[in-house]
Amino acid sequence: MFFFDPLWLVFAVPGLLLGIWAQIKLHHAYGKYSKVPVDSGMTGAQAAREILDRAGLNNVPVEEIPGQLSDHYDPTKRALFLSSDNYHGQSVAAVGVAAHESGHALQHQAAYAMFNFRMAIVPVTQFASMAYMGIFFAGFIFRSYFPTFIWIAIGLFCVMTLFQLVTLPVEFDASRRAKEQLFRLGLVHEHERAGVSKVLDAAALTYVAALVSSVLQLLYLLTLARDSRR
Ligand SMILES: [Zn+2]
Repeated sequence: MFFFDPLWLVFAVPGLLLGIWAQIKLHHAYGKYSKVPVDSGMTGAQAAREILDRAGLNNVPVEEIPGQLSDHYDPTKRALFLSSDNYHGQSVAAVGVAAHESGHALQHQAAYAMFNFRMAIVPVTQFASMAYMGIFFAGFIFRSYFPTFIWIAIGLFCVMTLFQLVTLPVEFDASRRAKEQLFRLGLVHEHERAGVSKVLDAAALTYVAALVSSVLQLLYLLTLARDSRR
């Protein structure tokens, strides 16, 4: 686990390539549709405001934050944060991303089970990723305890993988809600549907790639644990 292992490459490379491919796809789709003006002429911030207000979420603020694609909904603050490009952008991509983040606010309001479950396991996931680093270094120093450490590492990694697994339905559902509202409220027209879908599907693919990477890494840890018992 702690020295270079060619087997590690076998498990790490597919996830890494999938991750890079997903990022390229996202930047391509986002780059393309952030240059396509939306017919309604709305900015991302206006579209989000409209979706939230229509759902009775007038108390959820829409704020601007720096960074590219740093857009997110913060359930603890009950606030929506849009990157400057999407906050001010009047493009198919900006309105699509803004609607997706609004979709998370709608999930929160509806007490969507997967959203609540994901929120509930955030602290334990944060603990697991920190502890995993600790175990990594402890295992390096106390190598004779490797068989014990490896199982602790696997346990911690299971928690991190579970989090990524739960993230998938939450993300797909937020995009589904986003599209529903965009068309119902007339913020996006029928011929703009494909553009919105391409941007949101590409964003979802990055979460799929992260999950695949995690599962492969977990399988690698399991092969190490099996080998250490021989
Ligand atoms: Zn999301």
